[in-house]
Amino acid sequence: MVTNRTFTMIKPDAVEKGHIGAILEKITASGFRIVAMKLTQMTASDAKTFYAIHKERPFFGELVEYMTRGPIVAAILEKDNAVEDFRTLIGATNPAEAAEGTIRKLFAASIGENAVHGSDSNENAAIEGAFHFSGREMF
Ligand code: UDP
Ligand code: MG
Repeated sequence: MVTNRTFTMIKPDAVEKGHIGAILEKITASGFRIVAMKLTQMTASDAKTFYAIHKERPFFGELVEYMTRGPIVAAILEKDNAVEDFRTLIGATNPAEAAEGTIRKLFAASIGENAVHGSDSNENAAIEGAFHFSGREMF
């Protein structure tokens, strides 16, 4: 399994606010290579599958509503230590707790509408990347 890749989404709130370019600039300036990328919109079924691990959580319904309300940018990123370094770059789930200079500190509105996704393990990076992309879409 390739372990130097992670998966990200620029979420609907950040797309709505016009932050795609600024966020991609932070990502590439931080040394990540874009392996695959597309503007797409998740269906409710997609979001429920993608976030199935959270299905018992009280925020699950709101999370599905939020993630399906508009387009997202889905991308696979490559860098040494990609999963951990990307989680550092995006910052804490709650932007109020995110470090200065992180993507969530800069662009997230709240713990729910937090601008970006980053995979939390190599295993999930592979699962999430495969959920959104087929092999011939990757470079
Ligand atoms: N989320 C939420 N309320 C919470 C925790 C999470 O709405 O109390 C949303 C938020 O959009 C978050 C996503 O659910 O990014 C997935 O939660 P997770 O704990 O996996 O955070 P992440 O891995 O995205 O930092
Ligand atoms: Mg998570």
